[in-house]
Amino acid sequence: MRRGFGWRLAAAGAVALMALGLAFAPYVYAEAFPWLAKLHLRTTPPSQISVDAAPGPALGTAIGGRWRVQQIGPQTYALGEPANDPDNYEYLLLGQTRALLIDAGSSPDHDIRPVLATLTKLPVTTIPTHLHFDHTAGLKFADRIALIDLPQTRARAHNDEVRLGRYQFMGTLGGSHPAPSFKVSEWVKPDGVIDLGGRQVRVLWTPGHTATSISVSDPAAKLLFTGDLIYPTSLYGFMPDSSLSAYAATTDRLLALIPADTTIYGAHCCRNDLPAQAPWLGMSDLRDAGAAVKAVEAGTARGRGFIVRRFPVNPRMTLITLYPFGNR
Ligand SMILES: [Zn+2]
Repeated sequence: MRRGFGWRLAAAGAVALMALGLAFAPYVYAEAFPWLAKLHLRTTPPSQISVDAAPGPALGTAIGGRWRVQQIGPQTYALGEPANDPDNYEYLLLGQTRALLIDAGSSPDHDIRPVLATLTKLPVTTIPTHLHFDHTAGLKFADRIALIDLPQTRARAHNDEVRLGRYQFMGTLGGSHPAPSFKVSEWVKPDGVIDLGGRQVRVLWTPGHTATSISVSDPAAKLLFTGDLIYPTSLYGFMPDSSLSAYAATTDRLLALIPADTTIYGAHCCRNDLPAQAPWLGMSDLRDAGAAVKAVEAGTARGRGFIVRRFPVNPRMTLITLYPFGNR
């Protein structure tokens, strides 16, 4: 009798632990990832699309052995780190009186300022599209930093000094650098305008990939910079504060707000159908991403994998996510 009770207790405990693990799967994954990577265990199902860009160096001018600078429009530059892991792209928008750098660079060991100096003498304000390590590690080199003004970001600030939390910075997924702290010089309200002098851009709150993610809209240039909300290759919808329902609402909102002939620039390289270059997409790709997220939520999408699952979006993108209850 006693022995049977013990087994039942152990089984109930194991089930409870498994349920807890599933409910907190994004956090469990974030913590387990470095260990699984050390063991060379594949954690995500392979992509259904070829994610390798056509061979050859990325478009643009090589600077400092790391960066590729590509002009993508008047007074607008992509600053890529395409040969690196992570393969981030940052964007520099020049006005008449100031410049805006969208994302800071993915490494605390590579100063982006010499690259900026080749492009402008204007004062540069850096705005991270979200707080993950590969978008904020370079903030230590920024003179002026703008940040979206949300309760979650204000809660991390003391006298404008922001200290990132473990699951905002997500250093466990890449590099072992500690989460940085940085001084915010400009809090931007959701949908607030940044005036660069003769060029006004709007900071849109676009949660989904993370709760505090932004996109930057330059309506006159018909450009939308989306950070990790959408870019070619694999979209990440499995972070601790990723939300599939927010992802779907954000894509709906952007599709209603942004003209259909706008070009999207995301934060990660590269398209599988073009030579390596600043990762651009169209608004129809955003519509496809939104439809894929909704199908995953509805349980009608067919993906691969167990716990970490990969779903097709279109020929250029897949979506990686956990079960919707982990990323509600
Ligand atoms: Zn991210």
